[in-house]
Amino acid sequence: MNSWLIIIIVFLVANYLLEQIVSYLNIKALVDKVPEEFLGIFDAEKYQKSQEYTKVTSKFELVQSTVSTVVLLIFLLAGGFNSVDIFVRSFNQGEIVTGILYIGSLILLSSMLSLPFSFYSTFVIEERFGFNNTTKRTFFADIIKGLLLGLLIGTPILYIILWFFETTGDSAWIYCWAGLTVISIVLQFLAPVLIMPLFNKFTLLEDGTLKEKVLAFAQNASFSIQGIYTMDGSKRSSKLNAYFTGFGKFRKIVFYDTLLEKLGDDEIVAVLAHEMGHYKHHHLLKMMAISICHTGLLFFLLSLFIGNENLFASFQMEHMSTYGALIFFSFIFSPISLFLGIALNVLSRKHEFEADRYAANSPNRGKALVSGLKKLSAANLSNLTPHPALVFLHYSHPPILERIQALHKVSDAREVN
Ligand SMILES: [Zn+2]
Repeated sequence: MNSWLIIIIVFLVANYLLEQIVSYLNIKALVDKVPEEFLGIFDAEKYQKSQEYTKVTSKFELVQSTVSTVVLLIFLLAGGFNSVDIFVRSFNQGEIVTGILYIGSLILLSSMLSLPFSFYSTFVIEERFGFNNTTKRTFFADIIKGLLLGLLIGTPILYIILWFFETTGDSAWIYCWAGLTVISIVLQFLAPVLIMPLFNKFTLLEDGTLKEKVLAFAQNASFSIQGIYTMDGSKRSSKLNAYFTGFGKFRKIVFYDTLLEKLGDDEIVAVLAHEMGHYKHHHLLKMMAISICHTGLLFFLLSLFIGNENLFASFQMEHMSTYGALIFFSFIFSPISLFLGIALNVLSRKHEFEADRYAANSPNRGKALVSGLKKLSAANLSNLTPHPALVFLHYSHPPILERIQALHKVSDAREVN
């Protein structure tokens, strides 16, 4: 057996097993009694529901990842990657267009595989726990819009990458890196204006006490905001959220309508203070810088594998191609992705603590943020006691209890001073 093939199968199976073990540990870590901090927020029934939600979603993920791993292994071993290649080559369209057709076909196949799962998750699981507000019409419209957007944005990006590799030889990875960096920065600015409105309606926050409080708080912190918007998150789900988009003068704060409904004014301002903390600490810029380095590393390593005949043989390919290398390399890169993902999550959790601390250091915001976070976790049926291994691997935010304990410490320190 080809050595690359063995390595790829080992990666796939190891990753699958790791996920299952961590998910199992997480279920075992569920605690029957409501943690003390949450008495009064979660009643026994709601708490049980939150545990049930964790169990049901974990079981669902187990089924989904088993099916997709098995299907992928069969597809790989049965020479599926080559069959698709032979099919798209039959159109005789030249390397670049053939490459776009090839990668497009693979994306289409994998979307078809994940569609029934996403349907079940939305209309059975989320529905059962009272989160789902999505109509079938919105669900399918989202998928079609997503595919069209992917086509509209992905095709030119793929074209540029393949073109650089066709024409610029050994230094292609540098051109790809630069090109993709420019595109991703442009998208950061365009997404809130052109893409997000395709999926949701954004309305300026009505005049009133909340708006006054938000503006007063931002002004006090000398923080410029271009606009305060509400988003119809309730169109799809009853879960709560808030976020900032844009940079500098273009900065906008977006509150989900569901958040405005469930949280009091002071709690909402505390959530805003947390989001502002991310900006004050330049978290977004740091993450962007890391992602730019990540892209560079990706293209550099990719360039080493272009023309690797053994790698192509392990996918049973009859023809070598740049686009093939792009796909096959992603299999080899997966363990590096896993470690990078973990490192990014560690950093992201640190950022969350910093943003919380920023919020808590503004007068009276610590307590409001604690009560806001509690309501948020109750409304979203968050798992209050996730297993540390799961947190380490996948959590971009620290568990809610750790955040609350850290916030208490800041508040206590403030009172002593
Ligand atoms: Zn945050």
